[in-house]
Amino acid sequence: MKDTIAAIATPTGEGGISVIRISGPAALEIARTLFHAVAGGNDLEPTRVQFGEIRDPQTGGTIDEVLLTWFKAPKSYTAEDVIEISGHGGTYVTTRILKLVLDQGARLAEPGEFTRRAFLNGRIDLSQAEAVADVISAESDKALHSALCHLQGQLSKRINSMYSRLLAVVAQLEATIDFSEEGLTFQKREDSVKEIRQVGKEIKDLANTFQQGKIFREGARVALIGKPNVGKSSLLNALLQEDRAIVTAIPGTTRDTLEERVRIKDIHINIIDSAGLRENPDIIEEEGIQRAKIALDQADLALVLFDGAEALDANDRSLIEQVRDKPILIVINKNDLPQQLDVDTLEADLGSANRINISATRHEGLDDLKDAIYHFVVRNETKQEAVFVTRERHRILLVEAESSLLKVCETLEQGLSEEFAAVDVNIAMENLAAILGKNFEEDLIDQIFGDFCIGK
Ligand code: GDP
Repeated sequence: MKDTIAAIATPTGEGGISVIRISGPAALEIARTLFHAVAGGNDLEPTRVQFGEIRDPQTGGTIDEVLLTWFKAPKSYTAEDVIEISGHGGTYVTTRILKLVLDQGARLAEPGEFTRRAFLNGRIDLSQAEAVADVISAESDKALHSALCHLQGQLSKRINSMYSRLLAVVAQLEATIDFSEEGLTFQKREDSVKEIRQVGKEIKDLANTFQQGKIFREGARVALIGKPNVGKSSLLNALLQEDRAIVTAIPGTTRDTLEERVRIKDIHINIIDSAGLRENPDIIEEEGIQRAKIALDQADLALVLFDGAEALDANDRSLIEQVRDKPILIVINKNDLPQQLDVDTLEADLGSANRINISATRHEGLDDLKDAIYHFVVRNETKQEAVFVTRERHRILLVEAESSLLKVCETLEQGLSEEFAAVDVNIAMENLAAILGKNFEEDLIDQIFGDFCIGK
């Protein structure tokens, strides 16, 4: 029989309330031992919030006044009996309650273990479990929307429907093998190829939403590049100041870069700031170019800054060479000063599209710049696609499924046996099933749930 797990489900520290969550076969018994309803007795009713006290069973002393809810199996987060105790949000009092719960035989939950149980007990599939983590970490409306869409099973529905269609094809192929004597083969074969091609195309379309879905979930990576003193840090500061809801500054992937997060409408972007470039005046030219190159390679979009108050110089020209044919917006800064920049030369080299004039220090032109960034970043969002693939794991499985289906078509068109074809359809089905966690390996599950916080 499964053990009973418990954890503090709210963040550590002081708050209005904190919640202790218990799940498993002993949850109800533990609650009955510790909880004393104000109304008298400790009879618990499912899905009713009850007011009472948590008392230490050893001493009878009151530990806290709490609200307690019992979610009766299987109608709970984990599909097991779940008890949630909402107490006063202090670190000490909450830990005391947790300790009493553990003393009654519960075990401290691992990170993500409640959600893991929800998955193992079949209440949600793996893509939905992943979506739980994505809802929690969402930092923009688009990120939240796509996570919720997965959590509510829209991705699962699409995958399940493709899976069923492939299952039907396998049945048809097998029937063809069995009845090949009766002259049905040719027609069936054509039907199978047609259906496989269609499902393959849908899988490919879904996999192709990843480029956009990843940006929704993780934010687009936007590099700021330009020669020293062109105004990169002034622009970064201006964007950060304008976004009152700055979330975090997290260390970038290389030692000399930082990522700052800025929200624009319903998405967020991660600005890659090659800090080392300006902070160290001794940095040699080549290294500067090297770093701009790295930033450019990692970015979904680069904002290429030019100083409007100066003529183009050798630095600008080498920059132009680097960014040609890359995804860029040209930003001409310092438009509050008399303009010296030869815009015609710039246009001749980089084209006229996507050029924005700003003054970083005066915060002028920033709305136009943000609009331009936004439109660039969501350019792949098509109206037809309601569901976006947001995780690399899903994309890889879809791509593998599609390539197996291509093999199926080749096999059938070359007149090889249906048996060979059926093998590859089955591989494609296994890939689809792996997205939903129908066939999984412990390592993968450990990895996915290990990213969760304790108590979730
Ligand atoms: P970085 O080396 O590219 O990061 O450039 P900074 O942001 O440090 O700016 C270099 C200098 O240009 C600073 O003295 C800024 O105050 C100035 N600067 C930046 N943007 C503007 C602007 O829009 N107008 C004016 N007049 N000066 C600016």
